[in-house]
Amino acid sequence: MSRKSKTLEKPSFKYLQCKVKDCYNEERVDADAKSVKCSRCVQRAVGAPQVKAQKVSSGRPAGWHFMAEFVDKDGNVFHKGVEQPELKGTLKPTPPKEKTTPKKRISKEEKLVALHKKKMLAKKKEADKKAKAQAKKDGIKLPAKKKVGRPKKKATPKKRKVATKTSPKRKGSRYK
Ligand SMILES: [Zn+2]
Repeated sequence: MSRKSKTLEKPSFKYLQCKVKDCYNEERVDADAKSVKCSRCVQRAVGAPQVKAQKVSSGRPAGWHFMAEFVDKDGNVFHKGVEQPELKGTLKPTPPKEKTTPKKRISKEEKLVALHKKKMLAKKKEADKKAKAQAKKDGIKLPAKKKVGRPKKKATPKKRKVATKTSPKRKGSRYK
């Protein structure tokens, strides 16, 4: 490719003024375009998009359409989402399902740690059992179990925080 061919012989676009009277907006158009209507004028002609009203909750539980039988608060009976007018008021309203709290998610590491702890505890128990059995066999009294671990600290009363003028008061703060 020679350097000369880089310069365009024919521009690929041009600017045209909007064809609407009293509108002087310029739009970038194709070189062959004869006229243009600018985006603002198109928008004005089309009008603002309609925003659909938000769905209003029926107050029925999720999936009531698929329940073999569902009775709403007013006693309307539905069989798989189809109303059964002749049964209206003959049945008790379907009680709302209790919400179940989702289980706390644990990471892989936490799972492994928990498993390890469990295994170690089981091992220790097994060892203790064996030692006890052996001692019984030999007729030796085992020394009393010593408590392992750090001795517990005596609980010291916590210092109460005093709200100062500079500290911003949070909503629902204990310290008022
Ligand atoms: Zn225009």
